[in-house]
Amino acid sequence: MKIHGLQKLTLLDFPGQIACTVFTAGCNMRCPFCHNAALVTHIDADAYMDEEEFFSFLKKRTGVLDGVAITGGEPTLVPDLPAFMERVRSMGFKVKLDTNGSRPEVLRAIITAGLADYVAMDIKNSKENYGKTVGIADFSLAPVEESVDILMGSGVPFEFRTTVVDALHSPSDFESIGRWLAGPEPYFLQNFKDSGDLIVPGMTGKTPEEMEECLRAVKPFIPNASLRGL
Ligand code: SF4
Repeated sequence: MKIHGLQKLTLLDFPGQIACTVFTAGCNMRCPFCHNAALVTHIDADAYMDEEEFFSFLKKRTGVLDGVAITGGEPTLVPDLPAFMERVRSMGFKVKLDTNGSRPEVLRAIITAGLADYVAMDIKNSKENYGKTVGIADFSLAPVEESVDILMGSGVPFEFRTTVVDALHSPSDFESIGRWLAGPEPYFLQNFKDSGDLIVPGMTGKTPEEMEECLRAVKPFIPNASLRGL
């Protein structure tokens, strides 16, 4: 698998684990607030780390790192993702997968094969406002809905999460998301922060008070919802 970015140490990306994070390139969404535009809209195809180089790095981290978080882009678009995950796990490391939920068939195969120790799935917005939030006017929500159902029935630890953007999200969206995802699973609202590498410049986050208001809208349906990274 081509690795288009490596963060050698993270205490934040993989809950409860000391991990590294690998980045894959390519995505089938165009979220205007995407903070990894270099992995979505202007990919440098030659700028990647060879898989063997990564595994050599990982071997040296045995006993230091607990796991590997895989993010993107959208990792499930990469054909050799399952083989990569299998190799990481065979070395004794746990694997966390980030996904936008657009490839339920890949997600199901990964879960069925026992390759994911934790999954974080983006919920971009309420169903009504999904298309504009992922930058695709005629976006079909069915695969995302299927991925939600797969995770909820999987038995694998997971979280849903939403990056909250002032121009795209309102408290009523969170009430709608709450009705959709109602249940005991963890759900995180993450305020948008400008990385300086956006698909559409000019996006902003919300104030702390507005974030609390969004959280209040979702809490009656998802009691385990919380704010992250304020
Ligand atoms: S934020 Fe959107 S466009 Fe960017 S990688 Fe995630 S799903 Fe793709």
